[in-house]
Amino acid sequence: MSGAEVSEPAPLVDPVARIGDACLARRNVECRVCGEACEWSAIRFRPRPGGVVQPEVVLENCTGCADCVVVCPTQAIECTERAAQQAAGDVGQEGEKT
Ligand code: SF4
Ligand code: SF4
Repeated sequence: MSGAEVSEPAPLVDPVARIGDACLARRNVECRVCGEACEWSAIRFRPRPGGVVQPEVVLENCTGCADCVVVCPTQAIECTERAAQQAAGDVGQEGEKT
C-alpha cells in the first residue's frame, strides 16, 4: 500500500445540468445539440430578440444523466447540485420565474 491519497471530487447528490458561458448560443451561434440529446425534454430553447434561440435547463425535468454534457461541442455544460442551482436562481439560464 502506498498510502497515496487520490483526490476525487465528491459525487453529486442530486445533479442537474448547468449551461455556462461557453455555449455557442451565448455568442449568437445557433446550436441545439444538447436539446436534441436530451430525452427528458429538460432543455428548452427560448427566443432572444435579435439573436439566436437560447438553451436553458428545465430543472424539474432534468435527471442529471449528463447526456447533454458529452455532446456539447464547446463543453459548455456541467452537472451541479440541484439545490445550489435552485438557490442561485440560475442566473443566465432562467430569464423568468414561474
Ligand atoms: S450543445 Fe452546448 S453549445 Fe450547443 S446549445 Fe447546448 S450548451 Fe450551447
Ligand atoms: S443532464 Fe440529462 S436530463 Fe438533464 S438536461 Fe442534460 S440530457 Fe437532459
